[in-house]
Amino acid sequence: MIKNDYIILGAGASGLMLAYRMATDAFFDNKSILIIDQFKEKGNDRTWCFWEDNEGEWDNILTKEWSKIFFGSKSYSNEIDILPYHYKMIRSKDFYDLLWSTINKKSNINFIEDTVLDSKEGREGVTIKTTNSSYFGSKVFNSLPDHSLYNSQDKYPVLQQHFVGWFVKTESELFDDSVAKFMDFTVPQKGNTRFMYVLPTDKNTALFEYTLFSKDLLDLSEYDLAIKNYLREHNVDKYEIIEVEKGSIPMTSYKFHKRNSKHVLNIGTVGGWTKASTGYTFRNTSKKTKDVVEFLKRKSDLSQFQKRSKFWFYDLIFLDVLSHHNDEGAAVFTSMFRKANIKTIFKFLDEESNIIEDLRIILAVPAKRFVQAFLKRIF
Ligand SMILES: Cc1cc2nc3c(=O)[nH]c(=O)nc-3n(C[C@H](O)[C@H](O)[C@H](O)COP(=O)(O)OP(=O)(O)OC[C@H]3O[C@@H](n4cnc5c(N)ncnc54)[C@H](O)[C@@H]3O)c2cc1C
Repeated sequence: MIKNDYIILGAGASGLMLAYRMATDAFFDNKSILIIDQFKEKGNDRTWCFWEDNEGEWDNILTKEWSKIFFGSKSYSNEIDILPYHYKMIRSKDFYDLLWSTINKKSNINFIEDTVLDSKEGREGVTIKTTNSSYFGSKVFNSLPDHSLYNSQDKYPVLQQHFVGWFVKTESELFDDSVAKFMDFTVPQKGNTRFMYVLPTDKNTALFEYTLFSKDLLDLSEYDLAIKNYLREHNVDKYEIIEVEKGSIPMTSYKFHKRNSKHVLNIGTVGGWTKASTGYTFRNTSKKTKDVVEFLKRKSDLSQFQKRSKFWFYDLIFLDVLSHHNDEGAAVFTSMFRKANIKTIFKFLDEESNIIEDLRIILAVPAKRFVQAFLKRIF
């Protein structure tokens, strides 16, 4: 059986980013690294957005960035200047191409296109069984999705951030491409937390994404109808749908990291790197992959990688509220955007806020539900 120092399962956002960090750090030059994914070419399978203060590592491949965002609901709306933050968009093909172009140059990093079927951990490492072969890795980084983990428990609530997005092109210049519509809760809520997310990349082109934070997915026709209605209500009549994207991202405080072991580190969404209260994952993956690389230089027991944080508990309370009162999401976000400063919100969601900033956010959301959820978890 072929033996490797490291095996990375999955060449999506987290697996590829980890491989890229290893490819650009001389510490890993003498390590044999194997990446396994069922598909190498994935094209534009997702559009990643994230906020970041000032310049960032991926600025060369941005499709677009905005320094203003819009928040709207029935009772409050505001166009917010977010500087020094920018809201940034990357199309996944640009990201994959950039990272592969570096990784492909490294003779110590190999890629196998194959489907992973099973893994077995032993004293010295892990055996990975694929459709066509078996591989041994002293350390394995796993990003393969596994919905059964959180769906088979009821200790922690599980919502989905689910959406369908249309890239729309219009004949005339209809869009203000200086503002990203972050959340527009004016759409009918129908007992859930539902909003429209609109990202204009130029005056004729925009991504309209109908998004829910809720337990159950909708029929495809319902997302489509909601986008169609929204376009009509906003006087976008002559348009062509040039691309469609859809997704469902788990929002849960399930303790993914408890599955890490001496030889296996779960990374990306399956490693708990998705922010439970928002579904944002990309920027956290950028940070965490750097941490993994530094960790590997100092330590070898991968179960020690994850640290406890107060933000896990904040997210848990938020998800308790949203899962029990799914129709109140618009009110919660409206209150937060009305009362708290956007920079504090971003810092809090990036898990970089101090206790004073945490308190500003806690005091900005409707107290009753959060106190109820807090007391229920404590007692
Ligand atoms: C459409 C969409 C849009 C998103 N937009 C944003 C956003 O704007 N901002 C943000 O922060 N986050 C966003 N996310 C969430 C998150 O950033 C992405 O899901 C991200 O790709 C997660 O990275 P990952 O490495 O965990 O998983 P993935 O990128 O999905 O990688 C997993 C890899 O495993 C491979 N694989 C799966 N099963 C097997 C198997 N059995 N054998 C071999 N290979 C296998 C897949 O082919 C895939 O390449 C979005 C997600 C989706 C789906």
